[in-house]
Amino acid sequence: MLRALLLAPPGAGKGTQGERLSEHYGVPHLATGDALRRHVAEGSEIGAQAGAYMERGELVPDRLVLELVLHLLSEPEPLEGFILDGFPRTLNQAKTAFQWGKANGRTFHAVISLDVPEDELVRRLLERGAAQGRIDDSDDTIRNRLRVYDEFTEPLLDFYRERGILVEVDGEGPVEDVGARLRAQVDRLYPGSDASA
Ligand code: ADP
Repeated sequence: MLRALLLAPPGAGKGTQGERLSEHYGVPHLATGDALRRHVAEGSEIGAQAGAYMERGELVPDRLVLELVLHLLSEPEPLEGFILDGFPRTLNQAKTAFQWGKANGRTFHAVISLDVPEDELVRRLLERGAAQGRIDDSDDTIRNRLRVYDEFTEPLLDFYRERGILVEVDGEGPVEDVGARLRAQVDRLYPGSDASA
């Protein structure tokens, strides 16, 4: 089963494409942002600590995110397939994810990056903020999230490029076209798939 990571800036379409990949390959879509928002809504211990960081558009500390993600991936038993969306976002998270994969015989097949120019990202996020009222989709917070992406997350692309599993896809244009480009590239790294047949 496919194990892929979606690593792209806010507004690039991780959530949308993550859902589509999940359906196509028949594996769960695990989005750390969604999982964290659920914790905040439920007022759990993790949520109580994470909420303030999310509102400011800062990264939630690795300690909390790793606790959450390792639980999602490992309980009740190590997941065989998944689309992991929004994780890892720091080198420390990437290293821990890599170790988890090795230790459990579940290394990742593909790491997907969606390329979208910054002015288009800002436009999409402002539109989503107006439509859905997500608290972190406001002007200042958007700029902070983009800065945080450039500083902490974008460098991870090299980490995966060196490992030969990075897939870079043009994220502009109709959702269906982006999805088709994405699947074509993933299938090259993951020929085990018969889902495209
Ligand atoms: P976006 O990519 O549009 O910023 P997400 O839903 O992926 O949206 O993330 C929302 C917020 O959740 C982030 O700004 C951050 O505060 C927190 N978050 C999500 N995933 C992680 C992660 N892997 N590490 C740290 N913080 C995270």
